[in-house]
Amino acid sequence: MDQDSRIFVAGHRGLVGSAILRRLSEQGHTNLVFRTRAELDLTDQAAVRAFFDREKIDYVFLAAAKVGGILANDRMGADFIRENLLIQTNAIDAAWRAGVKKLLFLGSSCLYPKHAEQPLREEALLTGEMEPSNKPYAIAKIAGITMCQAYRRQYGFNAISAMPSNLYGPGDNFDPEGSHVLPGLIRRFHDAKMAGAPSVTLWGTGTPRREFLYVDDMADACLHLMRTYDDPEIVNVGPGTEIAIAELAQMIKRTVGYEGTLEHDLTKPDGHPRKVMEVSRLFATGWRPRVELEEGVRRTYEWFLEKVAPTLAATRQAAE
Ligand code: GDP
Repeated sequence: MDQDSRIFVAGHRGLVGSAILRRLSEQGHTNLVFRTRAELDLTDQAAVRAFFDREKIDYVFLAAAKVGGILANDRMGADFIRENLLIQTNAIDAAWRAGVKKLLFLGSSCLYPKHAEQPLREEALLTGEMEPSNKPYAIAKIAGITMCQAYRRQYGFNAISAMPSNLYGPGDNFDPEGSHVLPGLIRRFHDAKMAGAPSVTLWGTGTPRREFLYVDDMADACLHLMRTYDDPEIVNVGPGTEIAIAELAQMIKRTVGYEGTLEHDLTKPDGHPRKVMEVSRLFATGWRPRVELEEGVRRTYEWFLEKVAPTLAATRQAAE
């Protein structure tokens, strides 16, 4: 990837896509192409082919996808499988036809079998039953990975796939019910601090262990893989460190500056006792994450204070 290569970031408004765009700009890339959904509908095959024919793209970061939490996945499986299959099939095929040099596709740690051994190794893919609630999403994404591998084998197309772990950072979803634990707790500690509430409730026992990768580190890993990795096998992208939920909660409490106590709601599920990725394949390429969890939480809270908190305060005032 040269400084003046023409680079298309699909999904540039999403959590990962926006971080990839930021990172590319920081590193001096200026020949960047991105389109909103209104400008280019990736589920429209003719439009996607016309776009690639016209734009003469060299590199593609395929970060566009329909994503959502457990509830959305459970209720809208048809949308998840259709949209993801269409987006990735159109983009991968049109990119190859138009002579794109290389494409990076993004999978997810939730594609691995439900009972796969921890830490999750790349070889575990397709070795067992997956979690039923996100099966339509997972099957679509696995089709995308397989498509990258098949286009490489049959057509010599340099398409690679990365599997991100739990990501967090600016642009995250802070909805108290629908979000993942890290942004969810930032929101709850913040709300409790503003309301002067005496305690904050943590779901479950706090003993499950998870890993969290700051989204700018994810973006950095994507650029690194685009520059250095040309193999058909998927690559896990994670921090290589893990933390218990209770410890994470203490860290977020400190960062937010909340002084009350912590309680546990044991009627809420703990979920998997441990969910982490084996990252030796990635680390063998020389890449390491840079943003420590505490620093990442601090930056995420700052972003929340700037972009999300003002709207929440306005809504609260309007309700009063
Ligand atoms: P998971 O990694 O797929 O289990 O997704 P989550 O990020 O939703 O949950 C991770 C762990 O954090 C689980 O053990 C939850 O019970 C626990 N947890 C504690 N408090 C919260 C919270 O406020 N929101 C969420 N989403 N999880 C929480």
